[in-house]
Amino acid sequence: MANVVILGAGLTGLSAAYHFEQAGFTDFEIFEMNEEAGGLLRSFMIDGFTFDYTGHLLHINDEYFASFINTITSLDAFIKVTRNTAIYSHDRFTDYPFQMNLFGLPYDVIYECIEGYVNRRAGLRTPKNFYEWVLKYFGAGMGKHFFFPYNSKILAYDMRKVLPSWTGRFVPKTNLEAVLKGAFEQKDTSNIGYNSQFFYPKTGGIQHLIKSLERATKAKPRLHHKVVEIDVKSKTITFANGATTRYESIISTLPLNELLTMVKGSSHRSYGAAAEKLLCNSVVNFNLGFNRPKLTDRHWTYYPEKQYPFYRMGFWHNINPTSVKPGHTAIYGELSYLGKNTSKAARTTLVESAVAKALTVLGISEQEVVVRKDLHLTYAYVIYDAWREKHLENLLKNLAHDGILSTGRYGGWKYSSMQEAVIDGKIASENLLPKFFGAQTIKQQTPPTTAKQINAL
Ligand SMILES: Cc1cc2nc3c(=O)[nH]c(=O)nc-3n(C[C@H](O)[C@H](O)[C@H](O)COP(=O)(O)OP(=O)(O)OC[C@H]3O[C@@H](n4cnc5c(N)ncnc54)[C@H](O)[C@@H]3O)c2cc1C
Repeated sequence: MANVVILGAGLTGLSAAYHFEQAGFTDFEIFEMNEEAGGLLRSFMIDGFTFDYTGHLLHINDEYFASFINTITSLDAFIKVTRNTAIYSHDRFTDYPFQMNLFGLPYDVIYECIEGYVNRRAGLRTPKNFYEWVLKYFGAGMGKHFFFPYNSKILAYDMRKVLPSWTGRFVPKTNLEAVLKGAFEQKDTSNIGYNSQFFYPKTGGIQHLIKSLERATKAKPRLHHKVVEIDVKSKTITFANGATTRYESIISTLPLNELLTMVKGSSHRSYGAAAEKLLCNSVVNFNLGFNRPKLTDRHWTYYPEKQYPFYRMGFWHNINPTSVKPGHTAIYGELSYLGKNTSKAARTTLVESAVAKALTVLGISEQEVVVRKDLHLTYAYVIYDAWREKHLENLLKNLAHDGILSTGRYGGWKYSSMQEAVIDGKIASENLLPKFFGAQTIKQQTPPTTAKQINAL
């Protein structure tokens, strides 16, 4: 029996393990249901092409995260890229972000966006949902031509039922000067937004990060161990393969809704009902490799309009030329659906129509497609609805009371990046170390976790 059990060997779980070891604590075990570690950060090599579970690009703005990467691998193992992206609407490309780049759109659309911005509901004190939040900060025109259709597509959910609390650093705000200047001429806005620059491994896809972390950690995840039950009274975990293990504390990175259905023996009787209320959409990611040497110089394009089943298409050959076979190009496309409302047959129809539309949009014939890999992300974007806002904190507290620290993107039921996954794992380890290890004996090898911003890397 190990004192601490880590459930899930995605980036958060592996980060917790790594940080335990860095502090000199080794009395833990990691369990993972899949045949390999990595969770969403796995890459697939097929016939000379490398695909991820859709584009996974590293955005580094935390000093500790940068030093973590430099320790487990090296920033030299990554290419550093300045974003080159566009939005495709009204049959033309305009620059991202929409709110600063109206130039090139039809005049009546520009007029609607500026008029909407000038008359936006700036006085609205607390927008009740994302819809109102857009009306407050961007106005009805920008809502109509970008924010509402794009976000309805990516979240597969009603914008009036989504709270604005996820927007944070993900949606850059604007001002009248930027709106007007961006309407009169094409401005360079490549430095705007959290994703203006990104790092990507020179080889091996994003899984390079996981492989490096596995190499830097002595403990090895026990694979093919799918958790099915956690008895918090007897402190026993049961796996689908029949194995069991005892524990003192758990760090869980499993999807929170599934975790809640697994817990038995808790005095908190509402877990089952809560699991039903937590909403998250799914994404189908279609990857296609083409026998064509040239295809756009962009890294990705956003497709807000309904006529395109996908919300985004990315270009592997521009993200990293070694991701494709020499003389070839490749794309990833992403479309969302809400699992609960979408049958398997409906999903298949959706993906096939998305692939057909993608080829038409790019002007590529079926004969040029040399590779196709569809990947399903059962858990993709958590829905920030009113129920989540009201109950999440208490749910996590109750679980902690039951000895389970639920963390990571789906353990914490949130919208977060790889950087946050590493920091979540570190914080989880720091929370448990004093309990098992005696605070005075912890080796302080890393600075305590703070999300310090760094200006440039
Ligand atoms: C569409 C999409 C695009 C993204 N793009 C980016 C990006 O460009 N840049 C960025 O920084 N971040 C991006 N992210 C976020 C990034 O993927 C996550 O922050 C990160 O992968 C979260 O890691 P995790 O370990 O918390 O979760 P996961 O990767 O989900 O790991 C959880 C692990 O638990 C295991 N598990 C689940 N159930 C069980 C069970 N019952 N028993 C045992 N094991 C189990 C899973 O197999 C998995 O290995 C993106 C996410 C999505 C969905």
